[in-house]
Amino acid sequence: MYRLILVVLLLTVLYFLLRQMFRGFKTPVRNGREKAAARVQDEEQDQMIEDPVCHIFVPKRIGIIETIGGREYCFCSQECAVRFRIEHPV
Ligand SMILES: [Zn+2]
Repeated sequence: MYRLILVVLLLTVLYFLLRQMFRGFKTPVRNGREKAAARVQDEEQDQMIEDPVCHIFVPKRIGIIETIGGREYCFCSQECAVRFRIEHPV
């Protein structure tokens, strides 16, 4: 008789453990979605933008972003940004 109670108790504990495990599985899914959102942002940062001065394509991540006359430009170097400002006085 005692053995039966023990088995039932063990099964109950196992059930709660499994339920907690499944709950634990749900969290990484949410993290995966956040990672996907971060990846989209990363891709945006990797976007190639043409330098309007030397016409080299620069990844947004490493380029120098400057807003000149309300428009956003991406330059390969500070030198190009300065040259653009000289050529296009606002
Ligand atoms: Zn340049």
